[in-house]
Order: sequence, then C-alpha cells, then structure tokens
Amino acid sequence: MKIYNTLTKKKEEFVPVNPPKVRMYVCGPTVYDYFHIGNARSFVMGDMIRRYLLYRGYDVKYVMNLTDVDDKIIKRANELGEDPKKYAEKYIAEFFKDIDGLKVKRADAYPRATEHISDMIELIKKLEEKDVAYNVDGDVFYDVRKFKDYGKLSGKKIDELESGARIEINENKKNPLDFALWKKAKEGEPEWESPWGKGRPGWHIECSAMSMKELGETLDIHAGGSDLIFPHHENEIAQSEAATCKDFVKYWVHFGFLNIRDEKMSKSLGNFYTAREVLKKYPAEAVRLLFAQTHYAAPLNFSFELLDSAKKATERISSLAKTVTEKLASKNFGDEEYELNFEEFENKFRIAVDDDFNFPKGVAVIFDFVKAANREMQNKNLPKSFYENAKGFLERTAQDVLGIVDFNFQDEDKSTGGKQDELIKILIELRQKAKAEKNYALADEIRDKLSAIGIILQDSKTGTTYKIKS
Ligand SMILES: [Zn+2]
Repeated sequence: MKIYNTLTKKKEEFVPVNPPKVRMYVCGPTVYDYFHIGNARSFVMGDMIRRYLLYRGYDVKYVMNLTDVDDKIIKRANELGEDPKKYAEKYIAEFFKDIDGLKVKRADAYPRATEHISDMIELIKKLEEKDVAYNVDGDVFYDVRKFKDYGKLSGKKIDELESGARIEINENKKNPLDFALWKKAKEGEPEWESPWGKGRPGWHIECSAMSMKELGETLDIHAGGSDLIFPHHENEIAQSEAATCKDFVKYWVHFGFLNIRDEKMSKSLGNFYTAREVLKKYPAEAVRLLFAQTHYAAPLNFSFELLDSAKKATERISSLAKTVTEKLASKNFGDEEYELNFEEFENKFRIAVDDDFNFPKGVAVIFDFVKAANREMQNKNLPKSFYENAKGFLERTAQDVLGIVDFNFQDEDKSTGGKQDELIKILIELRQKAKAEKNYALADEIRDKLSAIGIILQDSKTGTTYKIKS
C-alpha cells in the first residue's frame, strides 16, 4: 500500500510502527455551529480511509478530538448569553447526529479538550523545561526559533513564513510566529488553574496532548484538511517532537478543499451549505459517492447537479444489491455457467485503492462490476454461488469500505426522514375509518390507488400492514 506523505512530499510504502496496528488521528470539529459540507468531506474521507485499512486487515485505532474550548465558542456563547460549556455540549450532540447521518463509523475515542486540561499542562511544563516555551505574565508561548525543524511540513523556512503569513501581532511574543500554548484568563472566559496562573490552553496544544495521550508518542497517520497544514499541524509537530524527541507522525495525510461550482464556499457568497441541509435532501450514500469520486487530496467541486447524478448512480448499485438479495431469499437458482470473475474484480479494487487511497478508481471498478453482473443476470439462469459472490463483493467494497450502498434496505426511507411510512399509516387509518362508516367504495379506492403505485395492503385479524412491491 502506498500513501502520499505531505511531510516528505512523496508517495511512500505504508509501513506502520507496529503492524498490524495502525494508530490514526484526524483533527475534529470546533463545536460552535453545525458543520458544513467542506468539513463533511474531511470526516467522510477520514472514515473511508479507516474503513479501507480495516478491509486490508489492519487493527485500526481511530481517534478524533472535539475542540470544546476555543475563541469561537466563547465568542458565540457570550453573544447569546449562554455558558460556553453548555453551548459546546449542544453542538457536540449535533455533530454526532450529522456524523451518523453521513454513515461515518464512530471513532474509537472522541477526546474533549476540556477533559484533558491536565495533560496539556503537563506537556507545556515539559516544553518549558526544555526551554522551547516562555512565560510572559501568564501567557505561555512556543519559541519557534528553538525548534530547528520548524516549517518541515509546510515546506517553508521561518523567514518566509514570517513575511507571508497573516500572524496576529502581540507585543509579548519574541517572534511573530511564536504561538500561544497557554492563554492568560480573561473576564467572561472559561479558566483553569495552572503553574502560570489561571487561563486556558491554546488550540494547537490540544491536538498534541490528546493524540499522544490516546495513541502514543508516534502516530502512524495524522489527517486533516489541507488548510490545517500551516500553522496547526506545523505547530503540532513542533510541540510534540520538542517534548518527546521522537517523530510525531509517520504519514501526514491532507484532504483537499471543497469548492461550490468552482467558487470558494462562503456565507457572503450565499453558497454555504451545512451537512445537515444537504442530508435533508440526499441520502448519505449519494454524498459519499460524490466524495469518493474525487481523489481525497484534490480540490472537490460540489454542486447539486453532481449530487443528483451521484444519487442516480448509487441507485444502480442498490438495485443490483436488492435483486441479488431477493434472488438469494427466493432459493430459486439455475445452473448455467458464468464468465464474471469475482476474484479479478476484487483484486482490481484492491490494487486501485492501495495506490494512495485512489477511491475514484475503486468506484470505477464497482460500476464495471455492476454492469458485468447485470449482463450475466439478464441472459442466464445463474447458480446460487453467483449471487452469493456478488453479495459478498458488494458488501465488502461498496458497503463496508465506501458506504455507498446499504444492504439493510429498511433504512431506505431515511432520506425522507421516515415520512413515507407515516404517510402510508395515515392512509391505512383513513381506510379503516371509511370501512367503519360502511363507505366501502372509498376504502377500496384507497387500497387500489396504493396498489397501483406498488404499495400492497394486507388485511389480517390483527390489523392492516403493507409491503412495497419492487
Ligand atoms: Zn488538530
């Protein structure tokens, strides 16, 4: 397996520190609002990579932090007159709703910044002992000039970074690139006791402290949006490596930007979409397919037209999945020979995705498979093994790795929030009422009209149920 490593700027053979274990960390959300569709891309791609590593037999521990103390949270909460901790709590709950909506598998751990303050303080103390951190009247800064490798991830020298980057000017800093490890308490902000007085941690130290706490001093994969390369990930390296004198991360993986119709997504341009808005109209499978069709590191162009075609494409896979499932349930098989080589398709899928998680190529293999399987099924009376193999292949690849089909078909109605089921039940109730009033013409009309659109009512002594004819 090969992975493009942002640190070395090369595609490298993937060799974890301690195989088959893989320790993977992805920067999580700052919980001050619903996350947008660009964030959703990072969460889904992290999830897909993790699922692929599992498919390849690795024992993956996957961790994502939740930043629940930060300038943005405090600002919003204060504007609304709410307690920042409660405000963050609310958006943590909303985060999980949307993650589940996208069918992202839950991480093995979601450490919260406010529950790891003492780990952060310990790490800052270590940095102070090593003389790479300095305290100015209760604010503690990292001295970037003391870390000789500063800039190795973003590929820039300190002098270049200083002139190019937009850095907050602070008279207390020795160097403009120095960043806050600990921020002195201010009126109206959450605060914790520390050796430097009351205050709160800086954002960068949160990720260093929590990732090393959960996964050890050297991680196999650290991922995040490419906007985090500088300064966030550069600073994580500086903090962690100065403290441990070990490599912090073996493979740095960065997800490309998401643009809307070739434009940057922004609230002022009116092209800003939360994941929740998109999931109200489209199933997770369609969103995931759209994401999988672009290489994770490349910019992704998002539009609702593309999402419509992704949705149609997922329907081709789910239609095959349904046919195969029904055929297996019917136990009605033939014995004609088939040409489709299941092993070859799975090898092609693996070879494609082994190359730096090339999901677009993996997706193409799946659609070739759908075409080939449909062709065989049209012309031949196939044996049981054909359907079993087809189901196995689709489950392992399209379902378990990509999440673009779900063999659990009951979930299908989720895109309308289960409303279809409720609607049919209302009609059944009205038909019951019509019958009770001896209005049999109306009762039959309801039954026949439902039947005409494939919804079959079944009366029994215990009541009426329905089934949907496919
Ligand atoms: Zn982070």
